[in-house]
Amino acid sequence: MIKENNKKCAVIGAGISGIAASIRMRNKGYDVTVFEANPFPGGKLSSESNKGYRFDMGPSVFTMPAYVDELFELSGKDPRKHFNYEKLDPVYQYFFEDGTTLESFHGKEKFAEFMAEKTNDKKEDIIKYMERTETIYNLTEEVFLKNSLHRLKNFLTWPVLRGILNFGKIGAFDTMHGANSKAFKDSRMVQIFNRYSTYNGSSPYLSPATLNVIAHVEIMKGAYYPVGGMYSITDSLVKLAKDIGVKFNFSTPVREILVENKKAAGLKTDKGNEQFDVVISNMDVYNSYKKLLPGEKRPAKTLDQPKSSSGIIFYWGIKKEFKQLKLHNILFSENYEEEFDTIFSKKEIYHDPTIYVNITSKHTPTDAPAGCENWFAFINVPNNSGQDWDKCIAEARTHMINKVNRILKTDITPFIESEMVFDPRVIEGRTSSAFGAIYGNSSNNKFAAFLRHANFSKDISGLYFCGGSVHPGPSIPLCLLSAKITTGLIK
Ligand SMILES: Cc1cc2nc3c(=O)[nH]c(=O)nc-3n(C[C@H](O)[C@H](O)[C@H](O)COP(=O)(O)OP(=O)(O)OC[C@H]3O[C@@H](n4cnc5c(N)ncnc54)[C@H](O)[C@@H]3O)c2cc1C
Repeated sequence: MIKENNKKCAVIGAGISGIAASIRMRNKGYDVTVFEANPFPGGKLSSESNKGYRFDMGPSVFTMPAYVDELFELSGKDPRKHFNYEKLDPVYQYFFEDGTTLESFHGKEKFAEFMAEKTNDKKEDIIKYMERTETIYNLTEEVFLKNSLHRLKNFLTWPVLRGILNFGKIGAFDTMHGANSKAFKDSRMVQIFNRYSTYNGSSPYLSPATLNVIAHVEIMKGAYYPVGGMYSITDSLVKLAKDIGVKFNFSTPVREILVENKKAAGLKTDKGNEQFDVVISNMDVYNSYKKLLPGEKRPAKTLDQPKSSSGIIFYWGIKKEFKQLKLHNILFSENYEEEFDTIFSKKEIYHDPTIYVNITSKHTPTDAPAGCENWFAFINVPNNSGQDWDKCIAEARTHMINKVNRILKTDITPFIESEMVFDPRVIEGRTSSAFGAIYGNSSNNKFAAFLRHANFSKDISGLYFCGGSVHPGPSIPLCLLSAKITTGLIK
């Protein structure tokens, strides 16, 4: 039973973090209204259908499901009656140009045993590496994941102080590639572990080894598939929010955050102004300042950090089944260093891109017609700095089809019966992510975690931020944590 507090809260954006924040604020007794520019919820975590095929448009790898469950539990509901998921084992299939295929299994023992058998690395070395990533997780969890990094009092607890005192052990002084190339002899193992930097749109040759923690989360804590696909996360949480009384205004872009005497006073939409006691912006923080707070001082140092990579995604309806593919498939480039250099230094697309192919119809057969598959084929590309994207898309399509054909020893062209494509311009247009960067600021330097925007405004009281562009970072679980940290700051 929710105890009303007679205060009004506005949430700008029904991305996964905005939805989670709305549920948490409603449970605190606020009268909550979500304003969403699109006619649909979910932001990056949305779903579309095309000619008999259904696609999850953005995220596809789901970790830490407990943060979804928590929202149901907080609202007095049994999560299992509303949202379900299965553990994946193996999680990934990795394909290399030399013809080898490797699989990534759940748990350090099983993972290490398989990899030791197939690569030149020893089981005990792989286990030692996994234990180091576990140490990073244990040391960083309280510092980075559970608290606002921008409140001094949060640094005065023992778990946080322990994390800071052990800073040397979290890999902040080495790059991800530096640490991985020291840990493994086999270049395929280095490449597998380097790839985790792409989970927040960064380069393993520039980002700190601290990001190896992502491998711990996926391999040791596990990766999951939500029953019905990723969109069931959005769908079940919107239903939960509505059920506890959150109001949603779709197709309602917020034009301005109203500020009076250094306090957030409400919002301006095309329907007029509305007063609120608290405003939470789930809109990308760069564009929140640029578009919604035009007269206010912007925290330039934080906002102007280099942005993460973006993506070109082909959503292909394929009228054939490929037995050698599973839910998550990675087709690796031959020269990873050159690929990242092309993306981050040259800001161009690479001729031999690493391709991620996600096929949900392997687990949810109704996502494609019988005998067919729904391919989400993704490559990392630079964010939008004015490249000729139509030309890039045409080139990327050729590079990707050539690579898939080489590795699968087939020609997929005649089987592509439907196609949609996203590029950085579309991603920015649909979600307001600055420059179409998928993950906010990049993590291409060791201080990046400290240079994400705080979950609150330092200058405007009553104004808060949540989502992938602020602390603690992008990805579904971090966005859910962001909503928790943000709403935890509000009485
Ligand atoms: C292609 C792709 C693949 C990804 N893969 C993974 C993955 O495998 N695993 C994973 O965990 N994460 C992945 N991510 C990252 C993850 O999807 C994001 O971190 C997360 O969904 C971001 O959620 P959010 O709530 O911060 O914001 P968003 O999803 O960006 O939502 C923001 C919402 O705010 C709305 N909005 C913006 N401005 C306004 C305004 N002025 N008025 C009203 N509404 C507004 C937008 O329309 C949007 O709905 C991926 C992302 C993409 C794009």
